[in-house]
Amino acid sequence: MYEPERFRSQAYQEIIDQSAVSGHLNIKQDCLERMRKEAEAGYPLEVCGLLIGTVTGQDWQISDIRPVANLNRERAADRFALDPAGYQAIDRELRGTGSEIVGVYHSHPDCPARPSPTDLESAWEGFAYPIISVCDGKAAEILCWSVNSEGDRFCAVNINHGGHS
Ligand SMILES: [Zn+2]
Repeated sequence: MYEPERFRSQAYQEIIDQSAVSGHLNIKQDCLERMRKEAEAGYPLEVCGLLIGTVTGQDWQISDIRPVANLNRERAADRFALDPAGYQAIDRELRGTGSEIVGVYHSHPDCPARPSPTDLESAWEGFAYPIISVCDGKAAEILCWSVNSEGDRFCAVNINHGGHS
């Protein structure tokens, strides 16, 4: 696992609540596979997209994922910018379907699947944030995170991928 120096820095350590685990991300295996494939196809750039589904209490039920353009074309592994037009189009499309946008996934090329301080700045409470680590073009670990109610730390979220693969 690649771990650039900055991931060991105080600033990166501080934004993760090591003691807290928050809810479950229930996601179909094929959605996870598609996230992996997109992350690999986009390498060495970051890719990002939306999680579609419902939220029940602390649990997210994900029925689909949708890629959205990353408007940030830098190679930095801790920067992505979801295309707002892409977001709004999907949001509109989902109205009345009973499903909604409940999270955002993105990749970390050659970096761990842990959030950066920049990720915290753009994170919304109540959303699930899976991060796909891609090492040398191959998808590695996927970890999921959510922001605490104070908005100052990420907590780990368990990923359940619907049993059979
Ligand atoms: Zn990130």
